[in-house]
Parts: sequence; structure tokens; C-alpha cells
Amino acid sequence: RRVEIPASEHGIDPALLDDRAVKVVGTLQQAGYEAYIVGGAVRDLLVGRRPKDFDVATNATPEQVKSLFRRAFIIGRRFRIVHVVFGRGREHEVIEVSTFRAYMDASAAEQVEGNEKTAKGEMAGKSHVVDASGRVLRDNVWGPQIEDAARRDFTINAMYYDPATQVVVDYHGGLKDLRAQTLRMIGDPATRYREDPVRILRVVRFAAKLGFKLEAKTEKPLREMLGLLANVPASRMFDEMIKLLQTGHALASLEQIRRFGLDKGVFPVLDAVLRQAAPGSVREKFLNLALADTDRRVGEGKPVAPSFLLACMLWHDVQEGWQRLKDGGEHPTPALAQAIDAAFDARIGDISGRGKLATDMREIWMMQPRFERRGGSQAYGLVDQPRFRAGFDFLRLRADIGEVPVELAEWWEDFSLGSDEEREALVQSVK
Ligand code: ATP
Ligand code: MG
Repeated sequence: RRVEIPASEHGIDPALLDDRAVKVVGTLQQAGYEAYIVGGAVRDLLVGRRPKDFDVATNATPEQVKSLFRRAFIIGRRFRIVHVVFGRGREHEVIEVSTFRAYMDASAAEQVEGNEKTAKGEMAGKSHVVDASGRVLRDNVWGPQIEDAARRDFTINAMYYDPATQVVVDYHGGLKDLRAQTLRMIGDPATRYREDPVRILRVVRFAAKLGFKLEAKTEKPLREMLGLLANVPASRMFDEMIKLLQTGHALASLEQIRRFGLDKGVFPVLDAVLRQAAPGSVREKFLNLALADTDRRVGEGKPVAPSFLLACMLWHDVQEGWQRLKDGGEHPTPALAQAIDAAFDARIGDISGRGKLATDMREIWMMQPRFERRGGSQAYGLVDQPRFRAGFDFLRLRADIGEVPVELAEWWEDFSLGSDEEREALVQSVK
């Protein structure tokens, strides 16, 4: 049932809206289409937070949307959506516009047998396809708003906001659940987890991020569904793991991850890290510091790089390998490079297509021994590295757990901020 909630009741503060998202909605509406801000942005607006990104939903097709904007790109295959782009460089902003989709349950869709590889060919030309486990491989059938709402995951994620009338449209009691701080899956939870096992991870993420409890029926099938995650492509799992750790509530996420048994056999990187981070160990201390640091940055609205967190998570692996190679007589620098390669092979596997991530991690690690060398030209060379800041933040965490002297981190802090004279004095002080 469609419920329209007026501003007096939902209390969204229009000052939290993004001008560009409002403009996109306006342009679509002026062209005669229905258009709304949708999903996570509405949820965040309702709790008084400024959303980090704005999604728009409309009854215009991707082609129709594209034709209305100068810089718009149709992207995606599994879900075709339009990116409307504003600004350039650091001002660059993308509003994602998706067309209302029909909700089809697994029985209505065409089933594809076998794994995704063999399914690819058969998928050609079909717009809604599931595999044998009920997982939706493609979903591009347009439908009315009521069905678009029904195919979303949680009731609190399925509301629409019209900035022009300031009305919130709610089909599933999302506002009520939001006020009761409850995560409730729309429809039959077990079916919905089967359609898309990533929803299992989304439950965990939103529970941690919002501090909400799970409605009983939403929670009940969770654990027995964990095996389905094995069908999800590794790259999507990797992305979800990064999101889990960058909610701004990474420590809470880890707690939820353990609570639901996701700490074993789900994320290879996390497995290794958690298994070795025994309570009270140096590794655990370092991991917790890194996560707390990430949470603090997110809380302050600063950007967080997945490369930094991953570099923290795998550091002790790298260090152990490095030590072994040095003990075997290898020179420190090539030994570190080799240890890094080995850690990537063992823990991350194929990160092709993520070149930048791996490069950034490598740079952070390779910088660490260079911090020990504070001769004049070496120090000036290091501080001018584009990735100096990340390398230095990493050094500071190492100092916090007593791995390197605190004085070393302080010296670099002073050096990086110092005037020419101060830098000269600092270099002299360690001669
Ligand atoms: P965040 O603040 O983390 O971005 P979000 O709710 O915006 O949270 P997105 O992943 O950006 O999450 O997805 C946008 C919306 O799309 C969701 O609010 C939800 O309505 C819908 N959605 C996303 N992923 C799924 C999914 N796996 N199954 C069903 N609906 C989904
Ligand atoms: Mg979002």
C-alpha cells in the first residue's frame, strides 16, 4: 500500500539535500517523468544525516534519462543505470539514476543452469535471469514504483522522497521501522537472501553502521544461508568487505562479523587476519588501532583509502616474510619486495583490475624502512613522495604499538611540517 508522508510528519531538513540531486529530479519531472531521491539517501535524511551519495529513481528508461543530460553515461550490465556527472576534478560528483524495476521472484524468471560462465551466452537478450540457486544474474525489467520498492532489500531502504513536494513515499512501513531502529527484510527473507546472497553482508553492514537490531524473521535464516556466499564473484565479495570496514563503524562491523560467523571462510583476507590476531596480541592491537583510526576519519568526514586499511591488515604477514628472507641473507629492500609479492599471492589472490590499490599498498610498505634513514637528502626525498602522508600515518600506528620508537614518528611529523630551517636542524639532530 502506498503511503504518502508529509514533511510535517517525517521532518526531513531540506538543507541536507544535495543541489545536484534535486536538479536531476527536477529535470526529469519537467520532462514529464516521475522522479524521486531513493534508498539510502532517504534513510540518512530521515535520521538527520547528510547522505554521502544520492541515488535517483525514475520511470524514464536509461536512454530517456541519458537524452536529458549533457554528461550522462549508461553503465552496468547486471543493473543498467545512468551516471549523471557534474563538475570536474575534485568537484566531480555523480548522481546515479536508476529506472524503476519490476520485482520478479525466482519462479517468474528464466532459470539458467550451471555456473555463471556457461550462463553468459544463454543470458544474451534476456533481461531477468537467475542461476540454479535462485541468485539473480541480471535484472533489467522495468516496472511501476510499487514493484521497484518491493525488490529493494530492507524496509528502511525502500522509501522515495520528492524534493518538490517534500513528500516521502513508503510502501513497506519503512518509517516505522526506522523509528523503531529495526532492519526488516522486505518479503520472505530466505528467498531474498537466495536471490542475492550479498544481502547477508548488507544486513551485517547496516546493523553495524546504524546500530539497529534485526527483526526476528530477518535474522533467523541468516546463518544457514552463509554457504550461498560461495557463489558470489570474488570481486563483489571484496568490494563488500571493504564497505564493511569503511562504514565508520569498523569495530562494530567486526563484532557483527564474528556474531554471524562470517569470520571464517567468507573473506580470505579477513580470515587470515582474524585468525592470527589472537586476543591481547600485537597483531590484534595493531588491527584495532587501524580500524579505530579509520572510524575516526570517517567520523570527521575525511576520506579513507581501502589501501591503507588493507596494508594494516596484512602488515604482519609481510613483516614475517620479510624477516625470514633477511635471516636467509637477502638484502632488506629486495627482501621486502618479495615478502609483499608473497603476501599478495597468499591473501588477496587475483586483484587484477585493482592495480592502483595494490600499488598504493606496496608504496606504504616499501616506505617503512626508508623512515629509518634520516640523512639529509634521504629525508627530503621521502617527504616529497606523493604518498608520504599514507606512509607516515602507517608509521605512526606502528609507533603506537611500540614497533618503532615514538620519537621516530614525531621526528617525521616535525620534519614534514617544518620550515627549511627547522628541517635543517632536525637533520642535524640525528647526525
Ligand atoms: P550506503 O549508505 O552504504 O550507500 P545504501 O542503502 O545507499 O547505503 P547502496 O548499496 O548504495 O546502499 O544501494 C542503494 C539502494 O539500492 C539501497 O538503499 C537499496 O534500496 C537498493 N539495494 C542495493 N543493493 C541491494 C541488494 N543487494 N538487494 C536489494 N536492494 C538493494
Ligand atoms: Mg548509497
